[in-house]
Amino acid sequence: MRKPLVAGNWKMNGSLDSIRALVDGLLSGIDQVKSADVAVCPSHVYLAEVSNLLKGSRIAWGSQDVAKEASGAFTGEVAASMLNDFDCQYAIVGHSERRSLFGDTDEIVAVKYAAAQKAGITPILCVGELLEERESGETEAVVKRQMDAVIAANGIESLNSAVIAYEPVWAIGTGKTASPQQAQDVHAFLRAYLAELNADVAAKVQILYGGSVKADNAAELFSQTDIDGGLIGGASLAADDFLAICAAAS
Ligand code: PEP
Repeated sequence: MRKPLVAGNWKMNGSLDSIRALVDGLLSGIDQVKSADVAVCPSHVYLAEVSNLLKGSRIAWGSQDVAKEASGAFTGEVAASMLNDFDCQYAIVGHSERRSLFGDTDEIVAVKYAAAQKAGITPILCVGELLEERESGETEAVVKRQMDAVIAANGIESLNSAVIAYEPVWAIGTGKTASPQQAQDVHAFLRAYLAELNADVAAKVQILYGGSVKADNAAELFSQTDIDGGLIGGASLAADDFLAICAAAS
């Protein structure tokens, strides 16, 4: 039985004050979440603050990206070892915004995934198709290609220490959620594909859904057989909404 995970991706939002208030709200209400794992991914500059506030609680934290290099002359980048200094448990890699706006190719994502794992950080590997790819029937080919790049570079067993997030790009931040059946179909495809390579890994790996998950659609999405929780953007910025989504997963 896979334990559900709900992770909040705060993106480039918030201020020191708003983040303190958000964490406070999460800590006050976390007891209503019975059995799901919960994590939040603030902007890097707030990791020190968030890690101090969450230390000792059952809410984990992670980063929204990680450098592929270990250290050196890479202005603006944040290395996995630096995330370790703040006890990050997770690092999102391959988010569609990184892929589309910052040039993260499948190959770069595979290296970032490895960099996180090498530091003992669990990558949350995002995969997902564009609207035109869905409309031309390429969804499965796209997510398979994105998975294959990571598996070719790191091996199928690396997924024993990773989380996958299926995030259809057309559903991210648009208010257009994939229907529970559309999401389940892709999750089932991914799990079946992984099972061809290693049945044990496929049975155990958590596959989250992301894309306009809200408090009122979370329960139906999370009740699908192959959906093991969610990666939540906009709705993770309000403590009550995020906690309601976490509760729906537990
Ligand atoms: C995301 O950015 O990973 C995401 C799923 O965003 P939203 O929930 O806002 O669609």
